[in-house]
Amino acid sequence: MLRSPAFLATLTFLAVALGARVAQAPWTEQFPGSYPRVHAPADARFEFLPDEIRIHLDEETKSGRIIVFAHAADGSLLGLLKPIVDGAVTVRRGDLADYRLAVRGREVGEHRLLKAMDRYVEREDMLERILDARAKGLRFGVQRCLYPICNRCLDGCKSVMRGDFPISMRVGERGNVEPVFAKGSCPRCGKCFVWCPSGVIRDSGSLTN
Ligand code: SF4
Ligand code: SF4
Repeated sequence: MLRSPAFLATLTFLAVALGARVAQAPWTEQFPGSYPRVHAPADARFEFLPDEIRIHLDEETKSGRIIVFAHAADGSLLGLLKPIVDGAVTVRRGDLADYRLAVRGREVGEHRLLKAMDRYVEREDMLERILDARAKGLRFGVQRCLYPICNRCLDGCKSVMRGDFPISMRVGERGNVEPVFAKGSCPRCGKCFVWCPSGVIRDSGSLTN
């Protein structure tokens, strides 16, 4: 029976089917085949009240959080991660910045996290920094991208690891930090838009996002 043509044909078919499935599964999961695209910056209206700033957003973010930023005269950008509640973010006096990022023109440099496990290593009142930026004509606003608190797209991209940089971080026209995408060295693995927690990087092949 073991040598019958029907048995051998069945065995061969099962082996080929299994082999094809094993070979295809990782490819299907990791290479959806479309390029990433970067979602437009968030729009917001700032309402200045005596001891707080209310920021009304036009759109929620995927993570339910957003970064409030303000540029400083020394060429740095201060950022604070805030939750979005009922379509708005409130910055109160005493809310301290989470990080300081060096910026020069559109270039993004080194960052420093200002909050250690249980304390702030540098105390920068975010409300004061926004008022200061406003008085000096410097840029301030909100950004969907959570960099440098999040770094998933850069950490997960094999092309970035090889030094090709299809994704890099830049200062956008509104002063926000956002990813910039270049097709050249991107093999369309899809990891960046699957991993992006805030929905900044999206699947260009999908009509639903
Ligand atoms: S993770 Fe890198 S290689 Fe993969 S789709 Fe994104 S940019 Fe392209
Ligand atoms: S994964 Fe998304 S939120 Fe995180 S740094 Fe990249 S673009 Fe920004």
